[in-house]
Amino acid sequence: MWGSRGRPSEVTCIACGSAVDRADAREYDKHGDRFDRRDKEFEFLCKPCYRDISHQPRGDLEALLEESGAGETSREAFLKRYTELATGSARSENER
Ligand SMILES: [Zn+2]
Repeated sequence: MWGSRGRPSEVTCIACGSAVDRADAREYDKHGDRFDRRDKEFEFLCKPCYRDISHQPRGDLEALLEESGAGETSREAFLKRYTELATGSARSENER
């Protein structure tokens, strides 16, 4: 199989930015529909982060992702922003 050479496929946790094995990651579909996979790019969360966010209402997470600039900013900027928002280190949304 051509997938067997090199390192195993890794994905990046959208919350903490760490690389996790895809098999260990949890898919997160920001559209909330995991069955429609057409033209979609799934995002991934590591297990600890998945556990964290699953306590939040889904609507919040969606807003959080949008506010973080998902799909609009560079990955690095998005991850930074998301982490700040998700961990509450940047609580005041209307600060500037
Ligand atoms: Zn994570």
